[in-house]
Amino acid sequence: MRCKICRKEKAVINIKSYLLSLCKDCFVDRFRRQLRHTIKQYRMFGPNDRILIAVSGGKDSSVLWYLLTEMGYQADGLYIDLGIEKNQYSLRSKEYAQQLSQSLKRPLLVYDLRTNTGKGIPDLKGHSNRKSCSVCGKIKRHFMNKIAREKGYDCLATGHNLDDETAALLQSTLRWQQHYLGRQAPVLEEREEGFVRKVKPLVRFTEKEVALFAFLSQLPYLEDECPYAKGATTLFLKDILNQIEERSPGTKLAFYQEFLKIKALFQRELPPPNQCMICGMPTTAQICSACKILSPSLP
Ligand SMILES: [Zn+2]
Ligand SMILES: [Zn+2]
Repeated sequence: MRCKICRKEKAVINIKSYLLSLCKDCFVDRFRRQLRHTIKQYRMFGPNDRILIAVSGGKDSSVLWYLLTEMGYQADGLYIDLGIEKNQYSLRSKEYAQQLSQSLKRPLLVYDLRTNTGKGIPDLKGHSNRKSCSVCGKIKRHFMNKIAREKGYDCLATGHNLDDETAALLQSTLRWQQHYLGRQAPVLEEREEGFVRKVKPLVRFTEKEVALFAFLSQLPYLEDECPYAKGATTLFLKDILNQIEERSPGTKLAFYQEFLKIKALFQRELPPPNQCMICGMPTTAQICSACKILSPSLP
């Protein structure tokens, strides 16, 4: 099959939702243009902003860091070492993050959870693998926000793609969790009480598109899933969404973009947060969820 844009080269991808077959060059060009458009459309950040990217060694954050650097943004990496020894997961993912940092000539901040708190994710997830993703997510969000604030970054960027966002959206929708629905967005504005601005520049790309971009750009990244993610609800929901997408191409993007149009329905004025009694970070309770996880004996 030929590329539908240049009509010369052999197509490497067929994007069914657009009835579009593209060659290597046209695909990477289009990817870059769409990323630029997304950053502008949602007013994510400007050329003078200092951006901290949460880097995991996986494809999404690697592609994001690579492209933002190439586009001339001041983007540094933050790697949170979760202390996952199974399959040497943390060690290997850190090596990929460091390798990318060197090739991009951008600094990588490393936060070692075990050194700083005495506990890694394996110690915190308890006996349940099923819960490990939500525990890990809370811990990561906490320290990413804390470090971005302490180091004075203008925003924190994560590599969430369309598959991540639609899986989260489906999960919240199935139980109509207004709190989550109201806060799911490509940009979460900074709240003066200590939450840094959060942006997700890859939201309009599927996992498949990001993986293909990484492959075509010969970006090295860790392909393994986290060993604790097996059986996670998110993976199950992603699989279901892929089945729906297969039958009805374009559904994922429509599900997400149409949601953004009606999102205001779910937004609630949040009460001003308290300061966590332990770490001083903002929280709606007395003690923030990260501190509760780190010190389970607390009330
Ligand atoms: Zn082409
Ligand atoms: Zn706390």
